[in-house]
Amino acid sequence: MNSSNTSPFTLLHQSRECRARCGIVNTLHGRIRTPVFMPVGTQATVKAVTPEDLERLGAQIILGNTYHLFIRPGRQLIKQFGGLHSFMNWKKPILTDSGGFQIFSLKKLAKITEDGAAFRSHLDGSKFFLSPEDAVSVQEDLGSDIMMVLDTCIPWPASREETENATALTERWAMRSKAAQPASGQLLFGIVQGGMYPDLRRQAAEELVALGFDGYALGGLSVGEPKNQMYDMTEATVQHLPQNHPIYLMGVGTPEDLVESVYRGVDMFDCVMPTRNARNGMLFTSQGRLVIKNSIYRDDQRPPDELCGCYTCMNYSRAYLRHLFMCREILAYQLNSIHNLHYYCSLMAGMRSAIEQDSFLSFRDTFYAMRVQSPE
Ligand SMILES: [Zn+2]
Repeated sequence: MNSSNTSPFTLLHQSRECRARCGIVNTLHGRIRTPVFMPVGTQATVKAVTPEDLERLGAQIILGNTYHLFIRPGRQLIKQFGGLHSFMNWKKPILTDSGGFQIFSLKKLAKITEDGAAFRSHLDGSKFFLSPEDAVSVQEDLGSDIMMVLDTCIPWPASREETENATALTERWAMRSKAAQPASGQLLFGIVQGGMYPDLRRQAAEELVALGFDGYALGGLSVGEPKNQMYDMTEATVQHLPQNHPIYLMGVGTPEDLVESVYRGVDMFDCVMPTRNARNGMLFTSQGRLVIKNSIYRDDQRPPDELCGCYTCMNYSRAYLRHLFMCREILAYQLNSIHNLHYYCSLMAGMRSAIEQDSFLSFRDTFYAMRVQSPE
């Protein structure tokens, strides 16, 4: 699977209306139907939900954060348990990031050189070093189905020179990562940087494609730039990626972002938004966003979303969820997270069936038309 001549991706249907497509990504722990959303499980858990909840709400694959697992509980411990799947009792595919994004977020605690990233733990200040080869080897120990290369993150805004230098370093690290890919069948995705410069995005994409990765990710987007610029950069990158491999937009985004990016040919997404916002009392619904603490819901007997079939909406009212949230009850986080993740997963399922029926544009129109009336 790690030869540049083979791809884990099977195209099922290419939309006749736009770049949207449906496919399958084959991994060691099973097949993923795309387009797909991956709930984020930072510390070997998707916060506030069990693996059984995740299966019930339709999650096909989750994401684990290498940086967090690397510093606690450590690669050796997870390896002793036979990898992340058995450690956390999740049997379906897992994608792990390389740790690059978190290390760059440490800013003063991190130093980037040609060799890799030296950094101090945000927990106790202890020193670590991660080279591109180390990042692959840690992910090999974690046993993830899809591994990501170590890349450099480019802030927004960034000068052309800064962007060129960081993108070139990412490409050199990509070459070293590719050489370190194990023969275990674990997939390795390259990451296209290039900031907000379409020609640099194109060059970065072409260089990565020449190295031959299993899939390709778009990095450095949703970092504060205007939405239109993010969509333009997505378009400018996707058109230079091979259509017979999966395409993953990292760290994105809102329901609108998912619809717009699937329209532009993206297959895979991850974002903390559904779970983080759930814990802050914000629910995503087919009509828009619902802030559960608002007093208008004090005696509202309706479920959060009358069109939703999740466990929360089938059993609980807005009034009860508001009460739990106001009391800071643990169950509030669980029920809100189940609903938001179900919303994201069923949004993707809706897009998949619309693509198969060549009706994605009308799906997109309906999606926006329903959201005009916000229940807030
Ligand atoms: Zn629901």
